[in-house]
Amino acid sequence: MRKKSNTIIEIIAVGSELLTPYYQDTNSLYITSRLNDLGLKVSFKTIVGDDHVSLLSCFKLALKRADMVFIIGGLGPTSDDMTREVFAEASGKELEFRTDLLDHIKSRFKKRGLIMTSSNKKQAFVIKGSEVIENRVGTAPGLWIEDLGTTAFLLPGPPVELKTMFESGVMPRMEKYRNGFSFRKVLKITGITESGIENLVSDLYPKSPEIELSVLAYPGQIEIHITSHSLSSPEKAEKMINPLIKSLKGRLKEHIFSENNEELEEVIGRLLLKNKLTLSTAESCTGGLLGHRITNTPGSSRYFLQGVQAYSNKAKRELLDIHEDVIKKHGAVSAEVAGLMAEGIRKKSRSDFGLAITGIAGPGGGTREKPVGLVFTALSWNNRKNVEKNQFLGMRDSVKSQAAQKAMDMLRRYILFNKIKPIKR
Ligand code: AMP
Ligand code: MG
Repeated sequence: MRKKSNTIIEIIAVGSELLTPYYQDTNSLYITSRLNDLGLKVSFKTIVGDDHVSLLSCFKLALKRADMVFIIGGLGPTSDDMTREVFAEASGKELEFRTDLLDHIKSRFKKRGLIMTSSNKKQAFVIKGSEVIENRVGTAPGLWIEDLGTTAFLLPGPPVELKTMFESGVMPRMEKYRNGFSFRKVLKITGITESGIENLVSDLYPKSPEIELSVLAYPGQIEIHITSHSLSSPEKAEKMINPLIKSLKGRLKEHIFSENNEELEEVIGRLLLKNKLTLSTAESCTGGLLGHRITNTPGSSRYFLQGVQAYSNKAKRELLDIHEDVIKKHGAVSAEVAGLMAEGIRKKSRSDFGLAITGIAGPGGGTREKPVGLVFTALSWNNRKNVEKNQFLGMRDSVKSQAAQKAMDMLRRYILFNKIKPIKR
C-alpha cells in the first residue's frame, strides 16, 4: 500500500434503486465523513445497479485502481443481491459456507418469532479468507478481505445496519490505517445572512492547510464547520482550532445558538426549562411545523403546553379570540393579527409565552402589498408583545422552515436578553 496520506479509497454503492430519481446514496456520505475523521480521503465513488456485468466490471476496476474499497449493499437474501458472488468472481476467490453464520441468522428469526426462509441461507456464504464482521441489527454479515492487495469491506445497505456495523466492526479495524487525528466543531447560527457572516468574520478564515473551514447555508440557519487535523494527537487537533473558535464566537456573539450540535428547538427548550417558563404556539402558514419542531425535543412536555393551527379566519376568531373587525381591517397576514394570535394563545393556555406565525407561504396568494414569503412572527409575554415582519425567499417548504426558525429565534433572544421570571398564577 501507498503512504497513508496517498491511500486511494473507493466507495461502491450497489443497488438499482440508487440509480432512480427516488433513492439517494446516503451511506457513502456517512462513510466519507468517518474516513475523514481518520485523516483519510475518498478518491472515487461509484453507484452501480444490481446487474452482474456492471458489478463485475466495477469490482475489477476498484481492485485495480484502489488501495481500499468499501462496497455497500447487495448482501441481502433476494436474487438481485449478488455482491458476495460477483466479488468472489472479480477477485478470483471461492465462497465457503459457514454453519455458525447460518445459526446466527436462524436465531435472529427465532427472536422475532419468525421462521427463516430458505433464501436467507445465501447470507451464510462468505468469501474464502475473509473475516466476518458481525451484524448486530440485521442478518447480512459484513466481510473484510485483506489479502488481495486492495483491502475490501463488503457492508450491508440498510443505513441503520451499515452505521451500526461501521462503528462497531469497521472503525476498530481501520485504526491501523489512520492518518492522524481530526477535530470538528460546528457553529450553528441564525438571525444573520451568509453575507452578514462573511462581513463579520471572513478575515479570520484559516490559511493553514491543517484547518479547514466551510460555511453551509440552510433555510434560516447557517453553519460554520471547522475541522483541524494533527498527525500526532487528538488533543493537538483540538488545541489547534481553539483560538479560531474563540475569535469567531467573539465576533458572531448571540447569532451563534449552538456549538454543541443542538437544534434550535433544543436550545429554546433548555432556556425555558432553566427559567421554569412555559410556551404555547398559534400557527397559520406553518400549519403546525413550529409545534412539531418544539416537540421533537424529548421532555418538551415540561415546558410546551399547547399548539393550535388557526388556519382559517374562523379558527383565529374561535380559538384565539381575535375580533373579526381586526382581521377585516388589517388582513389575516398582518402585524396586528400576528400579535393577537400570540397574545390569544398565551392567555388561553395560561403559559408564560405565546409564539405565533402568520404569513404567505406561496406559491399562490401573494399580492403587491403582501407578496409570497411575507411572514409576521410574534411573541407575547406578560401583556407585552413583539412582532417582526419578515420577507423570506424560496419555495413553500423553505418559507415555512424559515418562519418556524425565526419564531423560535425571537423567543431565544428574548430569554437571553431579558431578566424574566415565571408569572405567578
Ligand atoms: P441491500 O443491502 O442492497 O439489500 O439494501 C437494502 C436497502 O438499503 C435498500 O433497499 C435501500 O433502501 C438501502 N440502501 C442500500 N444502499 C444504500 C445507500 N448507499 N444509501 C442509502 N440507502 C441504501
Ligand atoms: Mg439492494
